[in-house]
Amino acid sequence: MADYDYDLFVIGAGSGGVRAARVSASYGAKVAIAEEFRVGGTCVIRGCVPKKLLVYGAHFAEDLEDAQRFGWDVGTPKFDWAVLRDHVLADVDRLNAAYTDTLQSHDVEIIHERATVAGPHAVTLKSGKTVTAKYILIAVGAWPFMPDFPGSQHGISSNEVFHLDALPRRVVIAGAGYIANEFAGIFNALGSHVTIVNRSDQILRGYDESVRDRLLQISMSKGIDFRFNSPFEKIVKHQDGSFAIKLAGHDSFDADLVLFATGRRPHTEGLGLEQAGVELDDKGAIVVDGFSQSSVKSIYAVGDVTDRVQLTPVAIREGQAFAQTVFDDTPTTVDYDCIPSAVFSHPPLAGVGLTEGEARNTLGSIRVYSSDFRPMKNVLANRNERSLYKMIVDASNDKVVGLHMIGPDAPEILQAAAVAVKAGLTKADFDATMALHPSMAEELVLLR
Ligand code: NDP
Repeated sequence: MADYDYDLFVIGAGSGGVRAARVSASYGAKVAIAEEFRVGGTCVIRGCVPKKLLVYGAHFAEDLEDAQRFGWDVGTPKFDWAVLRDHVLADVDRLNAAYTDTLQSHDVEIIHERATVAGPHAVTLKSGKTVTAKYILIAVGAWPFMPDFPGSQHGISSNEVFHLDALPRRVVIAGAGYIANEFAGIFNALGSHVTIVNRSDQILRGYDESVRDRLLQISMSKGIDFRFNSPFEKIVKHQDGSFAIKLAGHDSFDADLVLFATGRRPHTEGLGLEQAGVELDDKGAIVVDGFSQSSVKSIYAVGDVTDRVQLTPVAIREGQAFAQTVFDDTPTTVDYDCIPSAVFSHPPLAGVGLTEGEARNTLGSIRVYSSDFRPMKNVLANRNERSLYKMIVDASNDKVVGLHMIGPDAPEILQAAAVAVKAGLTKADFDATMALHPSMAEELVLLR
C-alpha cells in the first residue's frame, strides 16, 4: 500500500463515515477523514440528537399542565427559548468533541476541509492539495431539498432551525414527513401557532394508515393546522420581517417563520463523482452494490448519499460492514429487513415490518389486531388522548409481520418489540408472554 498516501480516505464525518473510519483504522488501515462542517454529521450536529432534546424540552409544556392533576403546584411556568437552545447547542458541542476524540484515539487523521474526488484513487482538498488512497469512501450524507418558487429564499431548513434567535409566533412548515411532524409538535407545544402545508393529502407516507390518521387527529386537536394539496405560490416578506404566505387556492396568511421539510437529497453535487466515472441515479445518489461498492471498484459509499434508507443506524451498519469487508477480509452485507423507525412527534409513533396495506398487497391472508386505549397517565391527567397499537399477522403461519404504534414512549417500546418481529416470532409467542402490569407495552401481549 506504500503507493498511496492512505489506505482509506473518507469524505464526510457523519455517522457512517466516522464508524467506517474508526473501525477500518482499528483493523490497521491508515485512514484520513475530511469534513467541511463539523465532525458528527447531520444526526449529531443538526438532526436526530438536537431534535430529540428539543422534543424533551417541548414536552414539559404538557407535563407541567398535567402535573397539577397529580397534586403539584408549579405556579405559572415560563418558557425561555434561548435557554433551551443554548443548552442543546452545548450538548451538540460535547458530542462533536466526543466524536473527534474517538477518531483521534484511533489515529484517524481529521482534515477540516471540503474534499472532492479527483480520480479512482485521488482526492483534492479545498486548499488545492491532492492526496491518494487505495480506497475512497463517500459518506457525505444528504442535504435539505428546498423548493424553488417566488419568495422561497425566505424559508429555512432544518439546518438552521436549531439556531433561531427567538421562538416564532406563527410557523409554517412545508412538507408532512418526519421533520415536519416532529417540528410541528415541538413548536406547537412551545406555544407557536403551526400550519403544516403539503403538496399531497397525506402525512408520513410509508407509515401505517391508522397510526398516521391518529397522529393527524391528535395534532389537529392540539391546534396544528393542516393545508393539504396546497402548493406554494409565493412568499412575500413584510417590512417587519414577517411573511405573507400564498398557497394555491387559499387566501394569503401571515407567518414569522417558514421551515422547509420537503425531503433530503444525496449531497453529491460538485463532488467530482461523475468525472471519476462513479454512477449516480436520477436523484444524484451513488449507485452501490450490496457491499457499498460503486461502479468504480476503489470507491465505496455509505449512508444517505446512497439513498437506500435515510436513517442513522443504517448508515452506521453500512460503515461497519464496509470496514469488515475491505479491511478485515470478511465480506459483510447489511440486512435491510425489518428496520424499526419512529417519528418523535407529540405523541411519538413507531413501526416495524409491513403496514396493513403492504401486508394485504403482498401476503395471501392476514389477521390484524389492535388496541385503542387511553394510557392511565392520560386518564388521571384528564387528557383525552388515545394510543393505538396495531399488530399485523401472516395468517398462513401466525408470524407477526408488522407492529405499529402511536402513544407515549412508542419508540422505546417498539425497539424492544422489534426484536421479536425480526426474530420471526408468532402471535402465539406474544400471547404466551406474561403481561407486565400496569404498563402500556402490555397491550402487545393482550391483543385479542
Ligand atoms: P420526508 O421524506 O419524511 O418527507 C418529505 C415531505 O415533503 C413529504 O410530505 C413530501 O410530500 C414533501 N415533498 C417532497 N418533495 C417535495 C417537493 N418537491 N415539493 C413539495 N413537497 C415535497 O422528508 P423530511 O425532510 O421530513 O426528512 C428527510 C429524511 O430524514 C426522512 O426521510 C428520514 O429518513 C430522515 N429523518 C428521520 C427522522 C427519524 O428517524 N425520526 C427524523 C427526521 C428525518 P409527499 O408526501 O407528497 O411526497
